[in-house]
Amino acid sequence: MTENNPDFSALRRSMVDRQIARRGVRDKRVLEAMVRVPRELFVPKHLADEAYEDHPLPIGYGQTISQPYIVALMAEALALQGRERVLDIGTGSGYAAAVLASMALEVFSIERIPELVHQARANLDCAGFSQVYLRCGDGTLGWPEAAPFDGICVAAGAPSIPEALKQQLAVGGRLVIPIGEEYSGQQLTCIRRVSETEFSREDYGSVRFVPLLGEEGWQ
Ligand code: SAH
Repeated sequence: MTENNPDFSALRRSMVDRQIARRGVRDKRVLEAMVRVPRELFVPKHLADEAYEDHPLPIGYGQTISQPYIVALMAEALALQGRERVLDIGTGSGYAAAVLASMALEVFSIERIPELVHQARANLDCAGFSQVYLRCGDGTLGWPEAAPFDGICVAAGAPSIPEALKQQLAVGGRLVIPIGEEYSGQQLTCIRRVSETEFSREDYGSVRFVPLLGEEGWQ
């Protein structure tokens, strides 16, 4: 198995050290999850050698697997302890879902492009994450039957915070989402549900994600 491939596991450790820990991600659970998940199984085969590089990579259908550091930053913002139910929007390759599944109890993930759902299912099964639930659909509407969620991670940029996602957060839960008026440049934003009716907001800096397309996203 690739997990035992010395080259990939050395590259993975070096990625976590240089790109993630040194840039200030301190959460041990995040660092351990990223040492554990074999990212080379989530990129197209011909790009496996680039799996641990410090940038996003194309995964087909005009979409990308996010830069490792951004996945770490979002996972850290969710402050997971291991008992949470998490919703991941924009499954893409399935990589972020696998990282979150290493840190939480249950992960539900939604992707709008059917071919990517199939690809992500295969990637997740191959990497040993068959327990992640996948659905093809519009993630801006959330996954009402599985709500509430302790964490929601959105891997595509939205014009504003989708109301359905706020409402599917448990009290105390966090929603991490890139928000921006611009189609391609956004602010990574963490919303925390403080009570039934109150939400707090924290800014995590500028990011660049593909657009979140859907009813409560870009049209
Ligand atoms: N987390 C992914 C990165 C995916 S990029 C990974 O680890 O590989 C963002 C993804 O969001 C794309 O695959 C895109 O198709 C998807 N997407 C965009 N709008 C969406 C929506 N409304 N619902 C679900 N997925 C959406």
